Amino acid sequence: MIERLELLLKEAETSIQNASDSKVLEETRVKYLGKSGLVTEALKGLGQVAPEMRPQVGKVSNEVKNRIAELLEQKKEEFESKGGASLPVGWDPSLPGRQSSLGKMHPLTRVQQEICDIFRSFGFDQVEGPDVETDYYNFRGLNFPLDHPARDAHDTFYLSDELLLRTHTTTLQVHVMEKHQPPLKVVAPGKVYRNEAVDATHHHIFHQVDGFLVAEGVHFGHLKGILDSWVKKFFGSKVETRFRPSFFPFTEPSAEVDISCVFCQGKGCRICKQSGWVEIMGCGMIHPAVLENCKVDPEKWSGFAFGMGVERVAMFKYDIDDIRLFYQNDLRFLRQF
Ligand SMILES: [Zn+2]
Repeated sequence: MIERLELLLKEAETSIQNASDSKVLEETRVKYLGKSGLVTEALKGLGQVAPEMRPQVGKVSNEVKNRIAELLEQKKEEFESKGGASLPVGWDPSLPGRQSSLGKMHPLTRVQQEICDIFRSFGFDQVEGPDVETDYYNFRGLNFPLDHPARDAHDTFYLSDELLLRTHTTTLQVHVMEKHQPPLKVVAPGKVYRNEAVDATHHHIFHQVDGFLVAEGVHFGHLKGILDSWVKKFFGSKVETRFRPSFFPFTEPSAEVDISCVFCQGKGCRICKQSGWVEIMGCGMIHPAVLENCKVDPEKWSGFAFGMGVERVAMFKYDIDDIRLFYQNDLRFLRQF
């Protein structure tokens, strides 16, 4: 009986030693110490042993049992310290992992946010409005005369006689002033729609950031100061601005804002068409008729407004020569930003 037990111990030692993973180790445990394991079975024969031998056989059998349990425990710890205990069979921890790809913001979203962040740092509130507008908010409220060419169906996507896709985010001027009395400082980003033939510099959907400020005693000097500060924050402190007279129905006087070319420092290059200047936005003092439409007293309040195309700013910032690249979802292009 004792010999039999010692033989089992030897066998078990070898099996445990050679166990290749925790699964084999568990099988070994069941084989020797399980309910119908070899050691357990051997102990069932204890009753047939001569009574005077029983204490000694009992002692040896306990020793064998404890020794096997100890060896199993040691081997188990060895696997765990190698990280082998919890690893699925066939899994190779030395293989490189699968990389998950991170998404990021579209360049237009990013530029639009950068534009608005600077105005917000000047104390402007950011608002958004509907893409589908009435003729009133897009045109009549903003002092567009009935025969203004912008109302022509060639430029505007009409959904019905009264409903259209907004052609600018200037619509927010009327929305905000209808609901809130001045003083107001607002910046309004969003998509706009124009029925344009698509080419390298035109697209029928693009993005605009429009803004306005209304308070007591606002004059053109405030307009120049705010826009010049914005340009210097966005493009760099050395960039100059100049204001050229222009026309918009909702501002009087109106101006186009040019900035000195950031690529040639105003010396003249391909991007600025050798002029040293690039047009970046339109602006002007809010027309008194627009204030009146919104029940804001033009005798008491005055203000200025401005608007810029996000694509145009982004194209100039990153030297992109084709607007269509923004909308083609070509990852080779988008990954550069
Ligand atoms: Zn230039």
